[in-house]
Amino acid sequence: SGEVAVSTSGFEARLASNPLDAALRNEILANPGFGRYFTDHMVHVRWTRAGGWQRGEIRPYGPLLIDPASPVLHYGQEIFEGIKAYRHADGSVWTFRPEKNAARFRASARRLALPELDDETFLGSLKTLVAQDVDWVPTPKNEAEECSLYLRPFMIGNGKSLGVKPAAEVDYYLIASPAAAYFKGGGKPVSIWLSQHYNRAAPGGTGFAKCGGNYAASLLAQAEAESHGCDQVAFLDAAENKWIEELGGMNLFFVYRDGRLVTPALTGTILEGVTRDSILELARDAGLTPEERPISIDEWRDGVANGDIVEVFACGTAAVITQIGQLVTESDRIVTPPIEGEAVSAKLRKRLLDIQYGRSEDTRGWLM
Ligand code: PMP
Repeated sequence: SGEVAVSTSGFEARLASNPLDAALRNEILANPGFGRYFTDHMVHVRWTRAGGWQRGEIRPYGPLLIDPASPVLHYGQEIFEGIKAYRHADGSVWTFRPEKNAARFRASARRLALPELDDETFLGSLKTLVAQDVDWVPTPKNEAEECSLYLRPFMIGNGKSLGVKPAAEVDYYLIASPAAAYFKGGGKPVSIWLSQHYNRAAPGGTGFAKCGGNYAASLLAQAEAESHGCDQVAFLDAAENKWIEELGGMNLFFVYRDGRLVTPALTGTILEGVTRDSILELARDAGLTPEERPISIDEWRDGVANGDIVEVFACGTAAVITQIGQLVTESDRIVTPPIEGEAVSAKLRKRLLDIQYGRSEDTRGWLM
C-alpha cells in the first residue's frame, strides 16, 4: 500500500500499490459468477464504546484482524447488507434506494446490540468504494445481461471479550464483488422446497434483521432443498407452521387472476426487502392491487388448483424477480400452470430493471 490521503468524502485513503492487472480484471468481469472475486479496495470504520465512530478509511482489500475472543466469533454478533451498483449506457454508475439499506442496517444493528452507523457514513462508504474501484463495475452488453457490482456492507463485534455481552469494539466494513445473474438457467422458473421441519425465524427473534445467524440457520434447510432438486427453500411461520413467510434470501409474491398482488405482511419475522417495497409501489402503476397480509400454505395450494393464483414469484436484490414454477413439499407438488400472454412478473421485472439500468426515467428518485 502507498500514500495516505483524505478523500473528498472524508475517508482516509490508503490505496493498493498492486491493483489487479486490467487484462485479468476484464477476464473476471466477462464471467464473474457471484461472490467469487473482490475489488482492489475495501472500506473500514471502527467504533469503540469510549470513542464512538472514528474516521473511516479506504484501504487495500485483505484479511481482517479479529481477536480470537471476539463476540462475532463466539456469539454471532454480526449484521450485513446487500446492494448493487449498476452501470448505465453512458458509463455512469448508480445504486438503487441505498437509503433503505442504510435504515435496515440501523434496524439490524439495534436488534444485535451493535452501534448504529449514521446514514451519511453508510452512503459515503458506498460512494467512496464504488468511485475508487469503478473499473470493477461490469458493463452489460445488452438488456438481457444483468451484471452489476454487488456491495456487501457488514459490521462485527470485535475485541477481546468472551463474556456474553455487546462488543465494546466494533468494525464496519464494505467489500465489493462483480456479479452476473444470480440463478443459472437464464430466467426460467425455479423450483422451491417447502421446509416443514426447520423454521427461519420466530416472533420476538431476529427475522427482520439481516444478521449472519439467520443465514447460518437456513443452510441445512437449503441443503435439504437442493437434495430434492430445488433451487431455494421456503419457510413457514414458527408458531403455526401454516403461514408463508419468505425464501432463504428472497421475498414472495402471488399474482391473482383478478389483479390482486399478495405478499406476506411484515410481521417482524421476515426481512423487509427493498425489492419487495419497490414492487408494491410499481404494482399500482401496473394496474395491480397490492395486498400485504398473511397467506397460508393452503391458500397457495388451493389458489393454484382452482386457478385464482396465476403466478408466484420471488424477489430480492440478487435475483431481481424470479418466477416460481413449483413448490415441492414432502407430500405433494404445487405446480404453477404455464402463463398465458405476458407474465405480470416479467412486466414488473422489466420495469424494475429499466429503472436500475437507467433505461427509463427515475421518476421516484430511487437512484444514487
Ligand atoms: N429475504 C431475505 C431473507 C433476504 O436475505 C433478502 C436479501 N436481502 C431478501 C428477502 C430481499 O431483500 P432485498 O430486496 O432488500 O434484497
